Amino acid sequence: MSMLEVKDVYKTYVTGNIKYQALSGVSLSVEKGEFTSIMGKSGSGKSTFMNILGCLDKMDSGNYILNGQNVTNLSDNELAYIRNKEIGFVFQSFNLLPRMSILENVELPMIYGGINSKIRRKKAMDALEKVGLANWIKHKPNEISGGQKQRVAIARAIVNNPNVIMADEPTGNLDSVVTAEILKIFQQLNEEGSTIIMVTHEPEVAQYTKKIVRFSDGKIVSDSMVLNRKIIHKD
Ligand code: ADP
Ligand code: MG
Repeated sequence: MSMLEVKDVYKTYVTGNIKYQALSGVSLSVEKGEFTSIMGKSGSGKSTFMNILGCLDKMDSGNYILNGQNVTNLSDNELAYIRNKEIGFVFQSFNLLPRMSILENVELPMIYGGINSKIRRKKAMDALEKVGLANWIKHKPNEISGGQKQRVAIARAIVNNPNVIMADEPTGNLDSVVTAEILKIFQQLNEEGSTIIMVTHEPEVAQYTKKIVRFSDGKIVSDSMVLNRKIIHKD
């Protein structure tokens, strides 16, 4: 079963009278249950592509089917709805709201979704338990470590039971020990059925995924299964 299918995506940024073609005919299919990494040099178009996959930005031309629905020509409001329902995001810089507690940060996507407060709290607690942060719910983001912040971001990403998790350099600000802890959570979520797409420029990190897609100059140049994939075992 296909989770998403994009065909022939083009994207040009225009700044003043300078045009820059960031994506030049990108096509990709991702099956349900895959754990895919997207690699490539800085500036090769990875984030541009992820933002389009995540319905955060629009392509100039191309076609996008997400979980059976053609989302190519949807309005901003329709895209926001689809995004909230289908996709959980994790960013390199965590993107937590500083004034809110950890619990409130994780509840946020459900507030947009209009879910009642009791159910909200229960689901947020379940998600925080899953990432090992059940004892930290009252803390604010500036009172926890980078690795813990990324765990909160993962809890926030999974709280609405999205069909796909998208992460753009999620370990980019973390040391190698904490990186392994975060990858272990992703592997566990994938094991439980989540489809995951993760941008990384570190070959070492990509070795923990099942498939590597390589970008160069706004194009996909290769797409291969990971041989001798590394697995982080549960302890
Ligand atoms: P990557 O994530 O692989 O580093 P990006 O997708 O962020 O690459 O960027 C691809 C290219 O598009 C880069 O040359 C970048 O400078 C350019 N770019 C990205 N975002 C914008 C923007 N908002 N306006 C203009 N140029 C942009
Ligand atoms: Mg990027």
